[in-house]
Amino acid sequence: PRRVVIVGGGLAGHTAAVTLRAAGYDGGITLLTAEPHPPYDRPPLSKELLAGTVDDTTLPTDLADLDVDLRLRCRALRLRPDAVESTGGAHRHDAVILATGSSPIGLAGASRAVHELRTVEDARRLRAALREADSVAVVGAGWVGNEVATRAAALNLKVTVVDAAPTPLARALPAALGEHLVPWFAAQGIDLRLRTLVDGVDERGVRLTDGGRVDADIVVTGIGARPDTGWLLGSGVPLSPDGAVEADATLRAGPGPVYAAGDIVRWPSRLFGARIRVEHWDHAAASARTAARNLLGHAEPYDPVPYFWSDQLGHRLQYVGHHHGADRLVLRGDPAGEDPWTALWFHGERLRAALAVDDPRGARDARRRIAEPDTRSR
Ligand code: FAD
Repeated sequence: PRRVVIVGGGLAGHTAAVTLRAAGYDGGITLLTAEPHPPYDRPPLSKELLAGTVDDTTLPTDLADLDVDLRLRCRALRLRPDAVESTGGAHRHDAVILATGSSPIGLAGASRAVHELRTVEDARRLRAALREADSVAVVGAGWVGNEVATRAAALNLKVTVVDAAPTPLARALPAALGEHLVPWFAAQGIDLRLRTLVDGVDERGVRLTDGGRVDADIVVTGIGARPDTGWLLGSGVPLSPDGAVEADATLRAGPGPVYAAGDIVRWPSRLFGARIRVEHWDHAAASARTAARNLLGHAEPYDPVPYFWSDQLGHRLQYVGHHHGADRLVLRGDPAGEDPWTALWFHGERLRAALAVDDPRGARDARRRIAEPDTRSR
């Protein structure tokens, strides 16, 4: 292709541009991003940036050195076969990489401003607000909500976490596993309210559907994110009802040379026998590398063992694989004890996924075993 347009300047868009150049592509590259900043990393936003040990998470490679035409504050509005229409005009293309990531799901019934956490501005605003506040209500005991709660508790704020589910991290982990995390909240001084539904947010804090309330100076929501793909409606790129871009095994997502990477893409995994979508850092980078190489004529199937980490509630959690469809959950070690432990999911004899708690070696071993085609339980 003479000109590749990459839409979305997050980790996936950035990695796609770097990979195209590393692979020897010397045509034009335009990178459109809605944000006012060059690409930056998001995982530190809810960790080091909130803690104040880091303020800038800009990704290290300077795209100008790679002769990438980076267009900031430029939102794509429509994909045509020959051009991307954007708030900054039309950008002609011969091939496209879609990498628009996701945006937080808003909380219904909020009559006052609540904090969300997706951008560096969100994170700086929340950091400043936490410094002024005495109490915080976090809606959603998910990955991001728990990290925020951890940080707020470390600042000695009164922290309450509210979630409708019966266990924390309920969208990611089955209840039989999530229940082992419940005592971690109290150990950090956090009041965890499960099976609790939010009715709305008002001047004093959070109203609950059972008539109760959680009074708090600030309210933070972390109830999930949705792919930013509305602009692709009518473009011919297949979208699923949840907004994901439905790609093939090479991450191609259209009749023309259109590829997708990062949070937005769902692809058929041979390893796991399912179409999967992953909203994590490692996948954003890896899928962008594959998409960029395939756009240049390779035909590599994308079939990784997904990997994700989170630092929360005094523990390092590492998740590898994909446990949907597994039929057996085995615990190694004691979740109630002080030592590292690991949960392993099997399908028949095959290891499919693992959650390692404070056990980086366990996570590494599991990742290797999941990738081996004929792994047997040992
Ligand atoms: P994004 O990072 O969302 O980037 C997409 C970019 O596209 C954005 O800049 C957006 O503004 C732009 N865009 C959107 N629509 C348009 C448009 N129409 N036109 C132009 N530009 C557009 N993952 C982990 O593995 N471990 C962690 O510990 C972890 N912590 C996290 C903490 C936080 C607070 C957050 C928010 C995420 C965390 N993640 C973590 C997830 C990880 O950061 C994401 O999976 C990753 O950022 C996805 O990269 P992406 O490039 O697909 O999308």
